[in-house]
Amino acid sequence: MAKFSIPKGREMLYKRVGFLCVAVLALYMLLQTLGGGSVLPGSGAGGSAVSVRGREQYVLSGKDGYKYRRVSYEPYSGPKERATFVTLARNRDLYSLIESIKSVEDRFNSKFQYDWVFLNDEEFTDEFKNVTTAMISGTTKYGLVPKEHWSFPSWIDKDKAAKVRAEMREKKIIYGDSVSYRHMCRFESGFFYRHPLLADYDWYWRVEPDIRLHCDIDYDVFKFMADNNKKYAFTISIKEYEATIPTLWQTTRDFMALHPEYLPENNMLDFVSDDGGLSYNLCHFWSNFEIASLDLWRGEAYSAYFDYLDKAGGFFYERWGDAPVHSIAASLFLERDQIHHFGDLGYFHVPFHQCPIDDNTRLGNRCDCDPSKDFTWNSYSCGSKFYSVNKLPRPEGWQEHAH
Ligand code: GDP
Ligand code: MN
Repeated sequence: MAKFSIPKGREMLYKRVGFLCVAVLALYMLLQTLGGGSVLPGSGAGGSAVSVRGREQYVLSGKDGYKYRRVSYEPYSGPKERATFVTLARNRDLYSLIESIKSVEDRFNSKFQYDWVFLNDEEFTDEFKNVTTAMISGTTKYGLVPKEHWSFPSWIDKDKAAKVRAEMREKKIIYGDSVSYRHMCRFESGFFYRHPLLADYDWYWRVEPDIRLHCDIDYDVFKFMADNNKKYAFTISIKEYEATIPTLWQTTRDFMALHPEYLPENNMLDFVSDDGGLSYNLCHFWSNFEIASLDLWRGEAYSAYFDYLDKAGGFFYERWGDAPVHSIAASLFLERDQIHHFGDLGYFHVPFHQCPIDDNTRLGNRCDCDPSKDFTWNSYSCGSKFYSVNKLPRPEGWQEHAH
């Protein structure tokens, strides 16, 4: 056996090298651990954290004994508007609603953490509250609609209203025989913005069950509205079923004759009427999506308009929708450049898609939609009309989608 011996006089040097090796190894192991490599004994959630370009990486050892490496995101700390999402829903809408919420959170709200107000004509269940709160990055609030905002007003003849519903059922008019749909349309037209939970806000974004956002939204849309003096914004516009609103335009004309002072000179009457106001062309913003100023509805002009419509009874004697009511009001009471088309968000509510046809927008914003399905430039849409009456430039190639 060969004898291994350290030459005399070199003992100290070898000791030092050995010590250095151990120290380097220890440091390496420590860095591995902090960098998310392996063992970190006893670190629970929020344990050891290292800042990595604005995110924090945690090494967690879960209750199951496994080690997890997670990222978490800094809360948004930039400027924010007094804005909220608002959703009217029934308890049974929960599971179609959370898919909408997930889409809105992933594409937009996880970056800004705006609040979300839920309203219902019945009490929300704990399940509804727990599940939606778990999905949302902002604060969630749940409100009950007061009875007087969800019932027949005293001046409505209920027998007459019932007759209308029976006739509309015969004619197979969509939601024509529904009482609750009428309460919903009247509430969205004239009451949601008066709910005490909305008193803290200047802006809202309406979200319905089963909608999708197709594209990433990397800017604050509420701030966009405020900075650009916008008051009402839409994604999709379309023509209304005439049978649901036979007297809405005449009632509106009567109101305009009484209150010409509510119409600014540069209004957008030409979006809703092709003959200078004689008749309604049925164009309206599809109100299942709305980003708008609450003050638009709280203001004198709209308050007077809604009261006038409500007294006329068409929410019950016909089936006036909140979409034509809001759209006509925005077109008449706002300056035309206060109305904005968000063409870059990508949006779906059955059966129509908004899908940016321009490649730069669609690919740049990671839109998950088929541009050949875009409804914006379709002849049943009023998108083209909006762009032409406001003399706005259209994306290249829009004609190919105008079938
Ligand atoms: P559509 O888009 O016109 O087919 O109508 P929806 O069924 O989507 O209803 C419009 C919105 O009102 C959705 O947010 C629904 O969840 C809500 N909604 C409709 N009816 C009722 C109701 O009776 N009670 C409550 N609380 N919400 C309703
Ligand atoms: Mn809907």
